[in-house]
Amino acid sequence: MEAYCVKCKTKREFKEGAKEMVMEGKRGSRRVMKGQCSVCGTNMVRILGKA
Ligand SMILES: [Zn+2]
Repeated sequence: MEAYCVKCKTKREFKEGAKEMVMEGKRGSRRVMKGQCSVCGTNMVRILGKA
């Protein structure tokens, strides 16, 4: 799965070990994928949708 990396300024694949989790927000909870950029290791978050 890909997400936008702010350091590479482009979309990158997640490093192995990315985790799907639920993030609580003001407008409800959302499912997100959290992991690291496979190229530079920067943390990336991809929003998957409403939980
Ligand atoms: Zn990167």
